[in-house]
Amino acid sequence: TAPMPKPDQMRVMVVANQKGGVGKTTTTVNLAAALAVSGLRVLVVDLDPQGNASTALGIDHHAEIPSIYDVMVEETPVSDVVQKVEEIEGLWCVPATIDLAGAEIELVSMVARESRMRKALDQHLQSPGVDYDYVFIDCPPSLGLLTVNALVGGDEVLIPIQCEYYALEGLSQLLKNIDMVRAHLNRDLAVSTILLTMYDGRTRLAAQVADEVRRHFGDTVLKTAIPRSVRISEAPSYGQTVMTYDAASSGALSYLEAAREIAERGASGSSHEELIHG
Ligand code: ADP
Ligand code: MG
Repeated sequence: TAPMPKPDQMRVMVVANQKGGVGKTTTTVNLAAALAVSGLRVLVVDLDPQGNASTALGIDHHAEIPSIYDVMVEETPVSDVVQKVEEIEGLWCVPATIDLAGAEIELVSMVARESRMRKALDQHLQSPGVDYDYVFIDCPPSLGLLTVNALVGGDEVLIPIQCEYYALEGLSQLLKNIDMVRAHLNRDLAVSTILLTMYDGRTRLAAQVADEVRRHFGDTVLKTAIPRSVRISEAPSYGQTVMTYDAASSGALSYLEAAREIAERGASGSSHEELIHG
C-alpha cells in the first residue's frame, strides 16, 4: 500500500461529542495508533478525567502522575508530563488523572480560562525537537470548560457518531458551541470530520442512521464506518489499541482506512461553513 501522506502542517484534531459512549476515546487512540504505525508522529492528549485514553495506550495515570491537570491548572510545561507509548513507535500521550475532575470548576475563576490548553500546546509544539504530524485531543462527555479548551486549542473537530437511536440528538448543541468558539475564540476551527462508529451492518437501524447522517453532513462524513467489533472493545483492558492487539482484525483495518481517508483528504476536506450555518 502507498505510504500514509504526511500533512504539510501539523493537524490538531479535537475528538468531541458531549454524549458518552459514542466512541470518542476508542476513535482517538486507534486513529492515533493507525497513523503512528504508518510512520507518522502522533500525540494524544487525554482530556477526560476518566483517563480512558491513557489506559488504552498503556500509560500510567494514577493520581500522583503529572498530567494534563498540571498543565492546565499549574501551568506545568507539556514536555514535563508527556509519556512515550511503549508499544508503538512514534506515539506519545499526555495522560489524564482523576485530578482533572476538579479542573472544570477550578478553571472557572482562572485567567484566560478558555485558552489555557492552547497556550500550553502552542508553547510545547513550538519548542525545538517537537514535531508531531497529528495531535488528537480526547474530550470528556460534556460541553464544559475542558471541551471548550480543546476547541480553542485545536484546528479541526472530529465528531464520532454512534449508529444508534438518537444518534443526532445533541449534535445541534455541539455545533452551536463550536460556532460560538469560532466566533469569539478560534476563527480557524473547522468541523472537518464525522466518523460513524459501532456500525452493525446486520441491522437496518444502523444503515438508516448512517444514511441520515450522510444526508445531513455530506462529505464531512468519512466513507469508512467503524464496525462494531469485539476486538476493538477488548483491546483497552490489555492496555492496547486494536492496532497492536489484533492488527488483522476488521476493527484495526477499518481504523487504518479511516486514518488514511483523513490523511489523504487533508485539513480542508470539509464543508464546515455549510455544516454549521446551513
Ligand atoms: P466515549 O469516549 O465517547 O465515551 P468509548 O470510546 O469509551 O466512548 O466507547 C464506549 C464503549 O463502546 C467502550 O466500552 C468501547 O470499548 C466500546 N466501543 C467503542 N467502539 C466500539 C466498536 N467499534 N466496537 C465495539 N465496541 C466499541
Ligand atoms: Mg471517552
